Amino acid sequence: MTADLAARRREFPALAAPVHGRRLAYLDSAATSLMPRAVIDAVARAAVQAPGSPNRGVHALAEAATVALDDARAVVAHGIGARPRDLVLTSGTTAAVNLVAQAWGRANVTTGDTIVVSELEHHSNLIPWQELCAERGARLAVAPVDDAGRIQLPALAARTKLVAVAHVSNVLGTIAPIAELAARVHAAGALLFVDGAQAVAHLPVDVAALGCDFYAFSAHKMYGPPGIGALWARGELLDAMAPWQTGGGMVTSVALSSAQFREPPHRFEAGTPNTPGAIGFAEATRFLAAVDRSDESRVHAALIDAITGAGGTIIGRPECAVVSFTLADIHPHDIATIADGEGVALRSGHHCAQPIHTRFGVAASARASIACYSGTDDVEQLARALARVREVFR
Ligand code: PMP
Repeated sequence: MTADLAARRREFPALAAPVHGRRLAYLDSAATSLMPRAVIDAVARAAVQAPGSPNRGVHALAEAATVALDDARAVVAHGIGARPRDLVLTSGTTAAVNLVAQAWGRANVTTGDTIVVSELEHHSNLIPWQELCAERGARLAVAPVDDAGRIQLPALAARTKLVAVAHVSNVLGTIAPIAELAARVHAAGALLFVDGAQAVAHLPVDVAALGCDFYAFSAHKMYGPPGIGALWARGELLDAMAPWQTGGGMVTSVALSSAQFREPPHRFEAGTPNTPGAIGFAEATRFLAAVDRSDESRVHAALIDAITGAGGTIIGRPECAVVSFTLADIHPHDIATIADGEGVALRSGHHCAQPIHTRFGVAASARASIACYSGTDDVEQLARALARVREVFR
């Protein structure tokens, strides 16, 4: 292990605690990444320095919270090359997809229209579109995935309104060519929604360069706290969208029979905002901008080798961060349970993406995923754990 990696790991307190008496090899960062001390401290500091309710009071603590929230939004927006006014803070990617499906979808999708999703989508970027289509009498078309895990976007039908795809698959670890897809989708007169949940920690994201129309992501996948995320949308789309959820904080004036709504992004943020979460999100954005990610591809390649070497069958051809696999006919929960006993944290099941498992002819898989604190020693520990799994099921 390099001195740099050792130093980086010391920034993540959760890595210091042994698991079942073993050193922790945390290979479940695709489910949620660990938080560095800087983020933990920022969230704790928020309780002291910005404890008021933002966008409401005029007293000092409320004002401090308002300023802190505005600053946090600006930092997160800057992290993806966006304007703060185009960034809606949500509780995560799931809420961002639902927001677009409802606020944009209800107004723009009608009987006979088509929404396209890919076969590899996380349930969060699938079910809201299913629900919208059912409600509006629209058709949900599916872009298939080839054996490598690449999305095969078909010729888009007339009246295709939106295409929704993951930037990085949480099962296959494949990277969708967003700029290329955006050009095709726009040529057909549709919009491109990108689920960036698995991409933000591993790829540089610049929404202008990607050319998409919506981009959703979660802080807890990029070293930030859970319960906060964002929806970026092209400004004119947000301007034209009515609110989805309504309530306090998103209005300019209210009478008993009607309400006037604030400008975006506030119009889409009903209720008391998660200020500590936003501050942690901003700190995670700063952390990510400074962190050296150059080792990730080497660790990812080592992961593929170790799993193949242990006799595992990898699903698709992973390109970054994630490797999902099966091992003989051993149930993935058994793999993950035995690995846990060896201090290795793996995910098992369908990872909230059942259709792509069906596509590859399996009910479930085990998944190893890495982050900036992962090293080849984690991979070696996984290899030993998989050898143990084989021993138990011999
Ligand atoms: N999309 C993808 C690709 C994901 O991996 C996840 C989280 N597993 C989500 C959406 C949902 O994110 P959240 O639970 O933070 O809303």
